[in-house]
Amino acid sequence: MTTLPAALYARWQRESLGPATAFEGQGTPPERWLQQIWRHQRLRRGELRGLDGRSVQVLHPGFWNRGPGPDFQRAVIQFAEEPPVSGDVEIDVGVGGWRGHGHDRNVRYAEVVLHVVWDSPARDLRPPVLALAPFLEAPLAELAPWLDGEAIPELPAPTLGQCCAPLAKLSAAQLTGLLNQAAQVRLERKAGEFARRARQAGWNSALWEGLFTALGYRHNTWPMRRLAEVLGEANRLGGGNPMLGEALLLGLAGLLPAQLPAGDNAAYVRQLWEIWWRERDTWAAHALPASLWQFGGLRPANHPQRRLALAARWMADGALPESIVRWLETPAADHFAESLANRLTPRIEEAGFWSHHWTLRSPRLAKPQSLLGLPRLTDLALNVVLPWLHARAVAGGNVGLIAEITRRHFAWPAGEDNAVLKLARARLFGAARPRLPRTAAAQQGLLQITRDFCNRADALCTGCRFPELVRGLPAASAPAMDTA
Ligand code: SF4
Repeated sequence: MTTLPAALYARWQRESLGPATAFEGQGTPPERWLQQIWRHQRLRRGELRGLDGRSVQVLHPGFWNRGPGPDFQRAVIQFAEEPPVSGDVEIDVGVGGWRGHGHDRNVRYAEVVLHVVWDSPARDLRPPVLALAPFLEAPLAELAPWLDGEAIPELPAPTLGQCCAPLAKLSAAQLTGLLNQAAQVRLERKAGEFARRARQAGWNSALWEGLFTALGYRHNTWPMRRLAEVLGEANRLGGGNPMLGEALLLGLAGLLPAQLPAGDNAAYVRQLWEIWWRERDTWAAHALPASLWQFGGLRPANHPQRRLALAARWMADGALPESIVRWLETPAADHFAESLANRLTPRIEEAGFWSHHWTLRSPRLAKPQSLLGLPRLTDLALNVVLPWLHARAVAGGNVGLIAEITRRHFAWPAGEDNAVLKLARARLFGAARPRLPRTAAAQQGLLQITRDFCNRADALCTGCRFPELVRGLPAASAPAMDTA
């Protein structure tokens, strides 16, 4: 036997989640869940209000700290109409944790600007307190399986995993089937996130937020998402003129250079400033501090100025969500990746200045560069476009579209390799090189197994059920793995 029972991986995942899935919204969730809700902002972000009555805008939730001190560091929070403040965020189940854990006497907590708790009737506390319970984006019972999977985000050390031996006995078809089923679980999980967000903000806003967040790739996801939230339905701004949207985005982001740069860049930056000067009073309350952006370790192609220039061209198009829906409805045989690239990538002449400069300050490039490269296209397709379309198709009960989304998802060519994939391969396959399709789905499946199993175990795989589950599959006469 070479094929797997349908939805086998989904069953393995459910069984491995254990008590989390049994949570039915009763009682207080564990603190580690509150950390994940905050970290990923599984909240109705536009409605947050602290216990002192002031609105709370989370411009950046901060960086998760697993050492001593506050749970999140370098967050940026805006209370009511006040200027944004930078500082730390501490998460506790209840407000009593602040004194009970001695934070009020510990100098490490001196920079805490927000104490986040589950729920509390208290008022007027210092530091200001935000209770999460009233603002979840979905009932806790619905979020629970997702929260438990996010609780331990770091992979253990790259030692050979205990699943390596049983995986080596599977055929190529079994291994591919397993990875594809895990990828399907991942697609449905992401689609579920879009469906939940769409319930709050509508389908188009959910899409724009996803696109902007993906453009913030790793370093700048939060300020990018914040821009999408601020623009909301105004994402059609631009009226065919990308300069207008570009000036607006760069101005709101605080990324227009204060000094005019040298060379032909100066005239371009001056035009952007002239537009932003006219618009900025309207948008002043939403302007982001430039300190929100991170530039360290960033490739020029990923610079936020460049990403916003791309988003401005999508906005000027005026009908990007409709174009993405048409992409799915247009028969594309094997050329669907290319046809999505054509819809999302401005032509060299449309990109204008950005075809010849990485950023507003960088010198003219010898060769024109596209505003959207293949790795980011794959990232956008796998993390935003296909899950968003899947969520819509499920909501509309359109079985034909779900089948077409699934087909494109499993046929999408493999994306860039990365450190998480390398580590996962080292643990699951060791030195062997399994014969697997070079698809993005195989990569997504590997990431999902890591999330569901490796992230819950230590470096020695203690307590991981994956090896035992794989051992339960029939051994293949022709295993998939070639040893190096
Ligand atoms: S934790 Fe589980 S899935 Fe991860 S390498 Fe170890 S045995 Fe394999």
